[in-house]
Amino acid sequence: MKPNRKPKLATVVNTFELSANMQRVILQGEDFKPLQATDLGGYIKLMFHPEGHTDISNLREGERPVMRTYTISELDLDSGQIAVDFVIHEVDEKHKIISKEQGGYAIHWAMNAKVGDTISIGGPGYSQLIDLNAEQVFMVADMTAIPAITEKLNKLEQNAVGHVVVQLSSPQDSPNWNLPVGMQLHTVIGHQPTELSDAVTQLSIDSQDVAIWCACEFTAMKAIRTHFNNQDAIQREKSYFSSYWKQGVTEDGHKVIKREDAENLS
Ligand SMILES: Cc1cc2nc3c(=O)[nH]c(=O)nc-3n(C[C@H](O)[C@H](O)[C@H](O)COP(=O)(O)OP(=O)(O)OC[C@H]3O[C@@H](n4cnc5c(N)ncnc54)[C@H](O)[C@@H]3O)c2cc1C
Repeated sequence: MKPNRKPKLATVVNTFELSANMQRVILQGEDFKPLQATDLGGYIKLMFHPEGHTDISNLREGERPVMRTYTISELDLDSGQIAVDFVIHEVDEKHKIISKEQGGYAIHWAMNAKVGDTISIGGPGYSQLIDLNAEQVFMVADMTAIPAITEKLNKLEQNAVGHVVVQLSSPQDSPNWNLPVGMQLHTVIGHQPTELSDAVTQLSIDSQDVAIWCACEFTAMKAIRTHFNNQDAIQREKSYFSSYWKQGVTEDGHKVIKREDAENLS
């Protein structure tokens, strides 16, 4: 479903460090009150002026806001509040936060947001469901997909069986999940996308009926998708592979690469 196009105006009502490498920003807006409980885990578009600030009222004729995609990680319909969790773009040990020259409209905004700041938001759109009737589930996420995968994990039946592979920037980023006993958790600590794909490709699948949900960095997603597509047991209609970002490329460039990748697949 296409996200609702009319931007919603949101005001920052709180911001705090959720974990070592994740900043939570709580946004409030009357426009969020008519949302549905099912919008939890859906994606939204944060809108920025090309100059980096969030006042898009004075865009020039034909100029479009810069969009950044995030997930609704908590939703309170009564107060019209949503929580958005921003992963800090760790570049390397020395450069904790990406420089402005390297991009990062969203992360720079989130790290500097103050109560009372406003931002326009598009959406929400729905994130892909996982087939809960499959014999096994295999779920993969890096930190950008933790808000989305958490919502999916919360929907699993208590007798669900399978694997969850999650990549974290540090052990202090561990999400507070209460998994069904049949779900094995595999945690990968590190920043390199290949560390996640290597961990996934080492695991074997012992069922003919597996639902796969995978959202992470582009290169890792492609390696994981190729791995699964090479296995006969995998059913395409029960598989979802999505890249949430691409190393070294802003979201605008990533969108183009994503489109090309989808065209090459079909
Ligand atoms: C459906 C969907 C839902 C998403 N939900 C979330 C979410 O809830 N939380 C979240 O944090 N992200 C989420 N993302 C990912 C987010 O949209 C991207 O990380 C986005 O590029 C961030 O925008 P930016 O302006 O900060 O950086 P950009 O200007 O897009 O990129 C600047 C530079 O930062 C690098 N970069 C971008 N993201 C990361 C990262 N995570 N780690 C290291 N380097 C990075 C880029 O490669 C580029 O070099 C989601 C993406 C999708 C498609």
